[in-house]
Amino acid sequence: MNVTEIFETMEYGPAPEAATPGLSWIKEHSPFGLFINNQWVKPASGQYIDSINPATGKPLAKVAAANSADVDSAVAAARAAFETWGKTPGHVRARYMYAAARHIQKHSRLLAVLESLDNGKPIRETRDIDIPLVARHFYYHAGWAQLMESELPNYQPVGVVGQIIPWNFPLLMLAWKIAPALAMGNTIVLKPARYTPLTALKFAEIIQEIGLPPGVLNILTGEASQVGEALVRHPDINKIAFTGSTDVGRSIRRATAGSGKKLSLELGGKSPFIVFDDADLDSVVEGIVDAIWFNQGQVCCAGSRLLVQENIANRLIEKIRVRMEHLRIGDPLDKAVDIGAIVSPGQLKEIQRLVNKGVEEGAVMWQPSWACPTEGYFFPPTLFTNVSPATTIAQVEIFGPVLVSMTFRTPTEAVELANNTRYGLAASVWSENINLALDVAPKLKAGSVWINCTNLFDASSGFGGYRESGFGREGGKEGLYEYVRPKWEMLETLSEDIHIAKDPMSANGSGPMSSPDEEAEDAMQDQSLGSSNGYVAALPAIDRTPKMFFGGKQVRPDSGYSRDVYDPPGRMIGQVGQGNRKDIRNAVEAAHAASGWAVGTTHNRAQILYYIAENLSVRENEFTHRIVQQTGRSHEDSVTEVEASISRLFSYAAWADKFEGVVHRPPMRGAVLAMPEAIGVIGIACPEEYPLLGFISLIAPAIAMGNTLVVIPSQQSPLSATDFYQILETSDLPGGVVNIVTGDRDMLSQILAEHDDVDAIWYLGSAEGSKNVELASAGNMKRTLVNYGYPRNWLDTVQGEGEEFLRESTQVKNIWIPYGE
Ligand code: NDP
Repeated sequence: MNVTEIFETMEYGPAPEAATPGLSWIKEHSPFGLFINNQWVKPASGQYIDSINPATGKPLAKVAAANSADVDSAVAAARAAFETWGKTPGHVRARYMYAAARHIQKHSRLLAVLESLDNGKPIRETRDIDIPLVARHFYYHAGWAQLMESELPNYQPVGVVGQIIPWNFPLLMLAWKIAPALAMGNTIVLKPARYTPLTALKFAEIIQEIGLPPGVLNILTGEASQVGEALVRHPDINKIAFTGSTDVGRSIRRATAGSGKKLSLELGGKSPFIVFDDADLDSVVEGIVDAIWFNQGQVCCAGSRLLVQENIANRLIEKIRVRMEHLRIGDPLDKAVDIGAIVSPGQLKEIQRLVNKGVEEGAVMWQPSWACPTEGYFFPPTLFTNVSPATTIAQVEIFGPVLVSMTFRTPTEAVELANNTRYGLAASVWSENINLALDVAPKLKAGSVWINCTNLFDASSGFGGYRESGFGREGGKEGLYEYVRPKWEMLETLSEDIHIAKDPMSANGSGPMSSPDEEAEDAMQDQSLGSSNGYVAALPAIDRTPKMFFGGKQVRPDSGYSRDVYDPPGRMIGQVGQGNRKDIRNAVEAAHAASGWAVGTTHNRAQILYYIAENLSVRENEFTHRIVQQTGRSHEDSVTEVEASISRLFSYAAWADKFEGVVHRPPMRGAVLAMPEAIGVIGIACPEEYPLLGFISLIAPAIAMGNTLVVIPSQQSPLSATDFYQILETSDLPGGVVNIVTGDRDMLSQILAEHDDVDAIWYLGSAEGSKNVELASAGNMKRTLVNYGYPRNWLDTVQGEGEEFLRESTQVKNIWIPYGE
């Protein structure tokens, strides 16, 4: 082809990157060992597996196949290293991480070539996106290592962390996991994906180069069934961080339930790409290329559902087809290639299966006229039109270069369609009207929203999902909390506090115990009535029937049964409704109907919390008596509990308009608004101890942040909560924000944990109950806060109050807003 022809056709010539440096490095090292204690060791099984080049289908390298014996060795190495690494000053950790970032840059081209060879992604992407972002993550988190002591003074590392990563961004996912874990002082055992181990092994070499202490990072290659599952079940691992499919995420949630392991899950998505009729369509087309053909569409946050306003749909679809015709597919090491190879034959088959399904379901498929290479695993960019929202291809994550398009008429319809998915990872909004875009963004149920841009990532801005896209964030300050735990939570010293839960009557033992008789009498405020003839008759107290409380109304239990409430000596002091499945269903419905609470002003929420505190203060004596009556604790102790409850309400009223987001400045022209949003409907099972303070400590942060609640009060002592609805009724709290269901706490918690319309569950009870809640939560991947049977001292503001509860009440949405013409 001569120059004139090139000008006429605008055809690119080949621009190959040399594979030789990568292939030579592989040849020098293959077969690769396991990386344990900074040494390369042979796998216990003596087995090796091939890593294949997806662009050719030919083997690239042999890597060790670890088994559970190797997992034991790596965890032991990490545990031993934690003894010192966990106490190493932040500045020292920062120096190692800074060195890691530097060394990644020094080896950047080799890493980019290896990634393209092993994964099949275009070198343009590995060179310009993956590897620079990997370095950025280490630089950014070196900063947090340095600042941990001053910025997170009340936190300590979690311990030994097991990390399991997928094949779509092998080195980037490694960086997202390793950098915050190291910064916070944890030690690590990491399992790369079976198909893409090579850059993790090159990274192990970098770890040797920078002299990170042995055992701090261990890397085990091998099969999920041998390594992944053994990590998940290992008793000496304190946290699992996983990125991958929702099904495996769900199985990990179940496998770790009740183990006390911290868990973060970054799972699948079916992200909407919304185009309004005033959008700049040429930019939109380029956005679509980045949304769904970047990395062959094997991206958890790929904009795989195109939602386009009806009046411009035909015009846009035509433009997309023209662009698709010009996309270049082929050798990933060719710098002029847009689309590389699919990672494996299995993944290729799955994409083809789903595409066939789309055709069978009546959608119209379109592919460019050119053919894919015949060697290796390639799939052409594919566009579906005439798609109905309930079909398989509109709902299931295809994880390939397949775009599914639908139309909408109004912004409301766009939001409804966008949220019509079980996932909630990301979304893009395209409009030249910033008012419209910023109005729509908060309504989208997604962890990241990109305005007039897509698939942007940065270490400063947390990434992670809502709903079945998982929980936990990677990146940003919020991502650090995945790798720390509160300092007070030293399990080995908890035994000292256990008396708080086991024996609430003697809690804080200050002051003499008053006689329950005296107090109960006092509480009942017995009166007598004298007649003019001198006869004095006892006046029985008027029967009070605590009810349940849904939608702002007092409601009798569906079952028609009541349960008796006893004081410590065993006398009946009242009866509450015996809640059942139907009551929970009604309470959840009421909570959903009150969702407007989340969009009200924070000032209003603060005002209402102050008002609740004011009304509680007016009835301080009555609430004190109730605590004495139910728990037999001293009057003085009970006064302390009520006063602490009032103070707690004040704290969360204060926080309501102060727990705000931040504006990130990633390296681009623009800003990222990181906004904490309410989670939605939270189910709360209150602790047995502190019937009033336990209840207030949980409901106050949740409502301060805009959630609506279904609350199960203390089972033994529910009357403080049922008395409390009278305060809620008179404090301007909208009906349905707090709903109260009394009864068997564990049975009701189970129903709440299984309920698909509940977004999070907090359970403060037994170890067994915590396990059951975690297990049941896997259905719709709810967020959980449980205590594994360990009590908190609710009177202590460090344990019972503060940012931990505000974070549990919110999820961060990052809204990316580029600017400039
Ligand atoms: P998986 O979820 O199976 O794999 C992700 C990682 O988890 C890999 O390291 C894998 O190991 C490991 N793993 C698999 N099963 C277990 C287990 N039971 N216990 C512990 N670890 C386990 O994803 P696939 O690679 O099978 O891809 C399937 C689908 O998942 C894709 O089509 C896509 O829809 C989705 N996916 C989503 C990703 C995301 O970023 N959200 C990333 C990758 C896939 P091994 O590699 O050895 O199997």
